[in-house]
Amino acid sequence: MSYDEYYVKSVIRTLPDWPEPGVMFRDITPLFKDPKALRMISDAFIQRYMDSEMTHIACIDARGFLIASIMAYQLQKPLVLVRKKGKLPGKTVHQEYQLEYGTSAVEMQVDSVSAGDKVLVFDDLIATGGTILAACTLIKTLGANVIECAALIDLPDLQGSTRIQDTGIPVYTLLAYE
Ligand code: AMP
Repeated sequence: MSYDEYYVKSVIRTLPDWPEPGVMFRDITPLFKDPKALRMISDAFIQRYMDSEMTHIACIDARGFLIASIMAYQLQKPLVLVRKKGKLPGKTVHQEYQLEYGTSAVEMQVDSVSAGDKVLVFDDLIATGGTILAACTLIKTLGANVIECAALIDLPDLQGSTRIQDTGIPVYTLLAYE
């Protein structure tokens, strides 16, 4: 089944003013109810990383988990979790980052990745890039390298993907919403 951007976009739902006024929320949950769309996007990412030097996939809480786990299964790579504060047991590393109003934080277990690992960071969507950049900081703190950041959706107006690329890390996304 070949990737059909028009079809995938027709399945993603846009909710204006959610969770707060002014936000156009790109709701990907209908993708998971549509096996054809889910297969298309999963296969597109699997193709992209089939012959990659990547050793681990780090996926971001929570929608990032869903697609990344399909990739990890098919590519037979270890999947490691980047979770919101307070969700992971055991020894963790912690990174705060700026939101429009206030701060948030992500964490990883200290044994998730180690020196020499080549990590792909995956989330559902890149807005300001703050979440993915915080995940990249954690991975570097643990001594590993980030080889690329990937997401299903980019919001280029918010310049997150440019911010990530400015740090020298390549970015790959399937869809953009202006
Ligand atoms: P950011 O850190 O600003 O790049 O925000 C990315 C994270 O917030 C991702 O985990 C997304 O799931 C979520 N997010 C931010 N903006 C949106 C949006 N307009 N629609 C859906 N999810 C969003």
